[in-house]
Amino acid sequence: MKVYFRLLSFAKPIEKFAIPYFIYSILSVVFGLLNFTLLIPLFDILFKEESITAVNDIILTKPHFELNSQYFKDLFYYEFHRMVRDYGKMGALQFVCIVILASVFLSNLFRYLSQRIMESFRIHILLNMRKIVFDKVMGLHMGFFSNERKGDIMSRITGDVSGVMISISNTLLVFFKEPVTLIGYFVVLFMMSARLTVFTIFFIPASGLIISMIVKKLKAAAVESNVSQGVLFSILDEALSGLRVIKAFNAVEYIQTKFHNENLNYARIARSMVKRQELASPISEFMGVSVVAGILLYGGSLVLAKDPSLSASTFVAYIIIFSQVLRPAKAISSSFGSITSGVAAGERVLSLIDAPNDIVDKDNAIVINDFKNELEFENVSFSYGLKQVLSGISFKIPKGKTVALVGPSGGGKSTISDLIPRFYDPTSGEILIDGHNLKDCAIESIRAQMGIVSQESILFNDTILNNIAFGMPHASKDDVIQAAKVANAHNFIIGTENGYETFIGDRGVKLSGGQKQRLSIARAVLKNPPILILDEATSALDTESEKLVQQALSNLMQNRTSLVIAHRLSTIQNADEIIVVENGKIVERGSHADLIRQNGGLYFKLNMMQTI
Ligand code: ADP
Repeated sequence: MKVYFRLLSFAKPIEKFAIPYFIYSILSVVFGLLNFTLLIPLFDILFKEESITAVNDIILTKPHFELNSQYFKDLFYYEFHRMVRDYGKMGALQFVCIVILASVFLSNLFRYLSQRIMESFRIHILLNMRKIVFDKVMGLHMGFFSNERKGDIMSRITGDVSGVMISISNTLLVFFKEPVTLIGYFVVLFMMSARLTVFTIFFIPASGLIISMIVKKLKAAAVESNVSQGVLFSILDEALSGLRVIKAFNAVEYIQTKFHNENLNYARIARSMVKRQELASPISEFMGVSVVAGILLYGGSLVLAKDPSLSASTFVAYIIIFSQVLRPAKAISSSFGSITSGVAAGERVLSLIDAPNDIVDKDNAIVINDFKNELEFENVSFSYGLKQVLSGISFKIPKGKTVALVGPSGGGKSTISDLIPRFYDPTSGEILIDGHNLKDCAIESIRAQMGIVSQESILFNDTILNNIAFGMPHASKDDVIQAAKVANAHNFIIGTENGYETFIGDRGVKLSGGQKQRLSIARAVLKNPPILILDEATSALDTESEKLVQQALSNLMQNRTSLVIAHRLSTIQNADEIIVVENGKIVERGSHADLIRQNGGLYFKLNMMQTI
């Protein structure tokens, strides 16, 4: 229940929706009931053999206006009898039908209005919740995502959030509408026949109980199906983003089988869920009809015995109204099931919202406004969970200098570069920017000092202009063009279909590798940060393209402080310091000339391998 109340907070402000919904619902119920009660005079006309004036409710003088139900009832019967007297039974029949039409129209109008409010309430919950969850996920530290499936997170933001929305809106609306409907119906039923109503009242809780027991069992299956959907999303995401590799390795069949198996699993879970879910309806239907049969028997016996408390036409109208009672009764009992399945989905959503963020600003964090002297690693160690990947890393990058990291793959170079923008924090040791520990500084202010050009160009399905101006919404088009020129990208951009307004497709599929890199470089040029972190692309570019990228990079690095992860040693020979990292430790360091002199050293060997 605690979880449910927390989930309710997503529905705020509830009263904004609940109050008008409540009013429209009452009006719709009142006119709906009117419809059914009008059946009594209708039946009277059709079935009564004796003169209609024998009816008890005869009103011969027009009633005085009062705002209560008795006035309207009297008015109706006054008009009704006037009709019978002046126009005969046929005229009265027409009159009843017109009143029925009017009340059906009003009842449906108010139902429509209440339904509209309910839908906008649902959309409101969905909007709120998706925003909160997405904002939270975006703010989480990178380490969180190493342990989570991307698809599962997607499933929580889509499927589970919808599950919570349905549950909250259903239960709240049931709470606001159905009790009123039920009470309204029972008041009318009571007025029609108190004896029969007392008799029926005992049947309803029994049927409600059985239905709610069935729905309760659904909870486990609902969670299972969302988990399975998460796995499906993951496979789908991998399959779509890795399509090129999948096809190249003839692995289409493998990925199809993988998807198919999970799809089958999902279908199995969904089937078993449906089996139980669908059972609720026939069982409740059967229970409902049993109750009606019981009433038919009891009420019928009263009518047959010519009991004065129940006329035949009242009895038929009674049965019809009673059959309407089952719907709100069913809705109330199944809303308990909806709470449990909503809570199950809600737990998955809340676990995302509650995920602790390991990397947050301290209170009174120092705001770094510029970069003056140096960036320093002081005896830094780091582990991913239990796996230690860096130990005792110490080096400095003085302002304006370039430091290159080289070494075998898996040595820890990318991890070192990820510590600078605080994607992760060191397990021990310190990283200092102008003497301030990064942990004491405001994260956004640190990141504002840095430009990152990674191995993979991270581009978005947007225009070239927006991709370059990413994160800098106030940049002018001229600034963007200027940056593109520095990054050797302007010429190819103006050659595209719509120039800077060309959409580049998902992750930039419409561009070549070199073009994507030059866009990433243009983005960094535009940001114009004092510190640069470059992860050189490993993917082989053709010589022409590589030359353009290299030139763009050296334009970018001019007058900046850079940390370069180098895969091709030829590009970093001019670096001020080259640091060789192997198995998380610094094994050699110095200038290119120093390191090459260490005949037999790791750098020497790497260099030999690349020059062969
Ligand atoms: P390099 O950039 O030199 O190739 P990395 O810094 O990428 O090396 O990786 C260093 C080590 O850390 C590797 O053994 C790698 O498997 C491990 N590693 C990298 N990222 C993660 C992660 N998110 N979770 C766990 N281990 C990781």
